[in-house]
Amino acid sequence: MIEGIILSCYATKAKTAYVYLRYEYPTCLDRMQAALDECYAAGYLGQNILGSEFSLDVCMHRGAAAYICGEETGLIESLEGKRAWPRIKPPFPAVEGVFRKPTVVNNIETVACVTHIVNRGADWFKSIGVPADPNNPRDPGSYGPKLYCLSGHVNKPGCYEAPLGITCRQLIDEYGGGVWKGRKAKAAIPGGISMGLFTEKELDTPLDFAGPGRVGCLGLGTAAVVVLDETVSIVDFLHNSCRFFQHESCGQCTPCREGTRWALEMLERIKAGKGRLKDLDLLLEIGDSIGIIPGTTICGLADGAAWPIKNAIRKFRGEFEEYIKRTNPQGYAVTHAVKALPILAAH
Ligand code: SF4
Repeated sequence: MIEGIILSCYATKAKTAYVYLRYEYPTCLDRMQAALDECYAAGYLGQNILGSEFSLDVCMHRGAAAYICGEETGLIESLEGKRAWPRIKPPFPAVEGVFRKPTVVNNIETVACVTHIVNRGADWFKSIGVPADPNNPRDPGSYGPKLYCLSGHVNKPGCYEAPLGITCRQLIDEYGGGVWKGRKAKAAIPGGISMGLFTEKELDTPLDFAGPGRVGCLGLGTAAVVVLDETVSIVDFLHNSCRFFQHESCGQCTPCREGTRWALEMLERIKAGKGRLKDLDLLLEIGDSIGIIPGTTICGLADGAAWPIKNAIRKFRGEFEEYIKRTNPQGYAVTHAVKALPILAAH
């Protein structure tokens, strides 16, 4: 990984690299810092590396654990010591990034591949994974190995390295030892909750860059696959998802700030037995109206909040309808009058 950083910086003429790490990983921080110290001692980092004219400093930076710091400009703001509010683009970071300098932001997993590509060649790298789909001009292929983080209701959760393009079912059965307690899967999140949901029937979808999009998901995302067994309530799943995104929205954009709140309030009402069947279409309307893809927000967090809503309701609508009918047989919501604001005296 450090060699990948050095090669990337050499190629882009960068003199400083920052490794931005979430706060919760102290072991990673200690190991990375120890490895960096070894590199400095060996002359692989610092001034005039191995007697050349190339100099590079690599700094570890510990973030304060906000989801939005995964967005590159939010990360840059946080790195500069500010609140992690994503920036309006353009300018893009490659033109004006951290400390107003041209900046390249990449996932460390990507950077770690650089060393292997330089050592073994692009053809070797492209021999792993899935070639481009000739019928899809937007699919450049999915090459190389991938770290799949498998969690949820499987026998052997863990982080597995496998070629891009294995199916979700292969990951669950061959790497994760199958669904736990002998149960069946009901659904799986393909790559972080923001990517949406696979149904059980969609588990044969390849986990490559194009695969999840073919079944209505946002994409592969982080390849952090979470398995939901047949006992999980999709209503509970969506409630948790809405709670998470409402909490993580940074609040700059009205559609994201208000939309995530409305979605959560509706899910809380449904969970409290006051749901209405028409709430499902209202939720879909929120899902279709917030995010970068409809062009209403600064960053993609709102899309990330919208996709689980759209996927859960479109793919599991029957379960939501059954829940609402069972918990609120009259089918209408109990509403409360909103108090008028006090009228202030003219003076
Ligand atoms: S979309 Fe949401 S998280 Fe992203 S900048 Fe706007 S309010 Fe913040």
